[in-house]
Amino acid sequence: MARKLFEVRDSPIHGKGVFAIRPIPRGTTIVEYTGERISWDEADRREEEKDDGDTHTMLFTVSKKVVIDATRRGSDARYVNHSCWGNCRTFIDKDRVYIESRRNIQPEEELFYDYKLSMDGAKITKKLRKAYACRCGSSKCRGTLLFEPKQRAKKPTASAVAERPKAARAAKK
Ligand SMILES: [Zn+2]
Repeated sequence: MARKLFEVRDSPIHGKGVFAIRPIPRGTTIVEYTGERISWDEADRREEEKDDGDTHTMLFTVSKKVVIDATRRGSDARYVNHSCWGNCRTFIDKDRVYIESRRNIQPEEELFYDYKLSMDGAKITKKLRKAYACRCGSSKCRGTLLFEPKQRAKKPTASAVAERPKAARAAKK
């Protein structure tokens, strides 16, 4: 991770995005998803402070105990947009979250990973699907950032990797 591989720019998909500025081989750890490490209780409290219509979230679940809030001390990783078929994925190593390339990425390509937002067992209604609509345009697009219902959290949560304890609210500004 010595040389910078990417740049934050305005994204045609959503707000700001992260773009490769040099070729990134498959399997490269690109950036760590950092931020303030907080408890679920604190994460829920912060979510409640937000406006109802605010579907942006920058929370990423690390474990049953720890959530990363990237709005505070967050790295550029927080600007990586969602795609249902992203060129990147997240993984967790020793309770830290990283974004790595799933395939070879060319300069100028925007980086994406699948947020897999879930609603803690709540039914994914049409209204919710719309609130979290996806415009990634990939052939595998689900039409929404939401994924199948998972345990935990009443708020949208994305799971970093399937085998980890649920949820990780990824998110976006
Ligand atoms: Zn999509």
